[in-house]
Amino acid sequence: MEKEIKNKNFCSICGKSYEGYGNNAEPINSGRCCDYCNAMIVIPRRIQEHQNKIEENKKLKLEPTNHSYYCECWETKRTSEYDNWKQFKEDEGVDYDLDYNLLFRFDIDFADDPEDEHYGTYTLKLHHALQRHGSEQWHAVIYNITQMDMPEIEQHLKKAKRHLLEMWKEIEE
Ligand SMILES: [Zn+2]
Repeated sequence: MEKEIKNKNFCSICGKSYEGYGNNAEPINSGRCCDYCNAMIVIPRRIQEHQNKIEENKKLKLEPTNHSYYCECWETKRTSEYDNWKQFKEDEGVDYDLDYNLLFRFDIDFADDPEDEHYGTYTLKLHHALQRHGSEQWHAVIYNITQMDMPEIEQHLKKAKRHLLEMWKEIEE
């Protein structure tokens, strides 16, 4: 009698008893669960979490970009600085003409030099070729980028990327 009680297992999810070893109930809880809960709750949750992770990894991250070479910003009159993303949106908007202002490159920098007045913060640089003028470029240097800005920044950059690729549509890979 005692043995029987000892061997009785109760599902940590539905509370019903089950036979055998049961299943690991992570990430629902740290206990074990019955086959039914495993199939209906635990496995679907794991698949969902895996899917979420894949989606999360696709998003543009707030971290320094590692692009080849660099783009000189400070040798033109048309470099403009903004305290933050909000300021950039107020001053320029995000619906400016991408033919006039061809956004051909972006960089995210992290200021790791304590001497730097922007130490410990991220800066977004948007490099545009002013196609009407040929010799001119517009560099938007946007300081104090935060995680909260990233979805809008990603939207803007996606639009710019589509625009760029559209100009190269005749070239097949
Ligand atoms: Zn169960």
